[in-house]
Amino acid sequence: MTDKYETVIGLEVHSQLLTLSKMFCPCGSDYQDSEPNTRVCPVCMGMPGVLPVVNKKAVNLVIKTGLALECEISPETKFDRKNYPYPDLMKGYQISQFDIPIALGGRLSIKTPETGGKYIRITRVHLEEDVAKLVHRKEPNGETYSLLDINRAGVPLMEIVSEPDMNSPEEANEYLTNLHSIIRFVETSTANMEEGSFRCDANISVRPLGSKKLGSKVEIKNVNSFRSVFRALKYEETRQRKLLDAGHNIEQETRGWSDDRGTTLSQRTKEYAADYRYFPEPDLPPILISNEWVKSIQSEMPELPAKKKERYIDLFGLSDYDASVMIGDKESTQLFENTLPYLSESMDQKDAAKATANWINVDLNRMKNELKYNWPEIKLNPKEFAKLIILVDDGKISNSMAKTVFDDMFVNGGDPIKISEDKGLSQINDASSIQNVVTETLLENQSAVDDYLNGKDSAVRYLVGQVMKKTKGQANPQVASKMVTSALIKQKTQ
Ligand SMILES: [Zn+2]
Repeated sequence: MTDKYETVIGLEVHSQLLTLSKMFCPCGSDYQDSEPNTRVCPVCMGMPGVLPVVNKKAVNLVIKTGLALECEISPETKFDRKNYPYPDLMKGYQISQFDIPIALGGRLSIKTPETGGKYIRITRVHLEEDVAKLVHRKEPNGETYSLLDINRAGVPLMEIVSEPDMNSPEEANEYLTNLHSIIRFVETSTANMEEGSFRCDANISVRPLGSKKLGSKVEIKNVNSFRSVFRALKYEETRQRKLLDAGHNIEQETRGWSDDRGTTLSQRTKEYAADYRYFPEPDLPPILISNEWVKSIQSEMPELPAKKKERYIDLFGLSDYDASVMIGDKESTQLFENTLPYLSESMDQKDAAKATANWINVDLNRMKNELKYNWPEIKLNPKEFAKLIILVDDGKISNSMAKTVFDDMFVNGGDPIKISEDKGLSQINDASSIQNVVTETLLENQSAVDDYLNGKDSAVRYLVGQVMKKTKGQANPQVASKMVTSALIKQKTQ
């Protein structure tokens, strides 16, 4: 990228709140796994004459998210109708929050390569209901039509709006990753992107460097993975810079992202908030949020990822990188913290932490990606995991054997000692049995021995390799290496 321009990015994230029922009616909010139109009632179908009732749990979850993002909580908040005509909106309006959202004015810290770190201001966190889903169909004869699934209508969402404080797609990616992690830690949403419970709209504009005025912004809608958000922003940044270079203006518009084509496509031009004709929801009274209410939610706040990371570095001596990878996943930090107590008698605290973090960040994540496993499916438990780490630390099994055992434990659980015995994987530490193999190996590889005697030290490594091969990897490599070396030195001095 040239330095002639500055990129300005703001993000809006919609995240489904972790409630059992919908926002204003008792219907279940589990629309993802239910048959179409089985989670509906007159309220969420938008029938005339019905009254909405606020789900208090949803309000609690937005307050909690707001506090985690260092926002002010409004002492009085209200709901508004956002009007627009579209078939996914049963009532012709969506109940949302306009001028007095639940949470205002927070911040979230991100790391940047340029400055080391900066804060992204959070404009607001507000509560709103989701809309119905349109299912587009095409018959074999070419006839097209759309069906409505109303299960999603009325499901509680929070919208988290940032200020346009990000200056690159990389910063936007860092912001999203951190926000996602915070939401998972405070357990206000599953934030599952594949299921659509964490969706992102991005506003991006480009302006001449040093200019105070913002360029015309383009809103990119319907992006449903971190990777797609990043690609869409990269594409759009380049597109806008090229247009400006060629002397064109950027049109303010909404564009969609096509993953297949790898491009953004124009959808709608010039759309302003005023078009929605917001007005206060007459069927819902304002909500007063007392200090006590806020305090009781604050008192349930778990340790947040940024604090956790600091603690992992200061107390356990993890590297910045290891700590960052770990806090990206809540369950990983739980496994880490629950495993360490089992290691406290056998290992130094920092060694134990380093070894545990390594297993989790490298091998556990490798298995998760390879097998596409999620947490409830992972059978590894802290107590058995600690046993495996101690087996390796004591030299009872080698690293490569331990990986085999680990993979088995990941899928099936179980005791690592039993698994390694069943697989015939126990390490041979017994000096006399290794000595026999070493003697045999040296006799069979006279040319390598000659190489060593002629000054080629690397022959040692080859011979140790042969010993490991003969024992099917079960010899302790350190012991084998010592024995090969001393046997060779003996021949040299003879
Ligand atoms: Zn309902």
